[in-house]
Amino acid sequence: MQGDIQRVLIDEGVISRRVSRMAEEVQADFPEGPLLVIVLLKGAMVFASDLLRRIARPLEIECLNVASYHGATESCGRVDFLDRTFPRVAGRSVLLLDDILDTGRTLHAVAARLRDEGAKEVRTGVLLAKDKAREADVRATYVGFEVGDEFVVGYGLDFRGRYRNLPFVGVLKPEVVERAGPP
Ligand code: 5GP
Ligand code: MG
Repeated sequence: MQGDIQRVLIDEGVISRRVSRMAEEVQADFPEGPLLVIVLLKGAMVFASDLLRRIARPLEIECLNVASYHGATESCGRVDFLDRTFPRVAGRSVLLLDDILDTGRTLHAVAARLRDEGAKEVRTGVLLAKDKAREADVRATYVGFEVGDEFVVGYGLDFRGRYRNLPFVGVLKPEVVERAGPP
């Protein structure tokens, strides 16, 4: 698996230190009261599990499955909610976590839904933000690292369902992507 990696962008130790700092930032911003954390599956699960264990505060954790359509259907910019239920967020302070901010559509759509459902306050955290113009008007409250506009894997992020368990963030060798063929 590690042999498929061309380049490590952010190593394990660097991620760990940054995630600790992010946990401190979250704690400082939500000084009291029960916090509801919503984790977008599956990409944010590794990041969330490290971040949330460093927050010494009562919190509740919910997960959401969403699908954002890229490629052929990119122009429609649709984000679908795949779960049969939606967490009760009315009146709650919510921290929404995702793995990476790319076009911004996912975070924008989920944050909008949370506000529609009556969340009192919505803050957003991402491990990574791509250094590019967003297609949706959204900024993450907490950003771990800015990365270039290239496809990355590891620490929760996948390619065709694999590589999520790599402890670092890296870039695949081009031949690995070519060998995989069209989606
Ligand atoms: P957005 O809605 O911001 O365009 O996309 C966010 C979602 O696209 C992320 O949750 C992630 O699943 C996927 N994504 C965007 N860029 C990358 C990337 O470089 N690598 C991987 N593995 N997924 C990405
Ligand atoms: Mg994702």
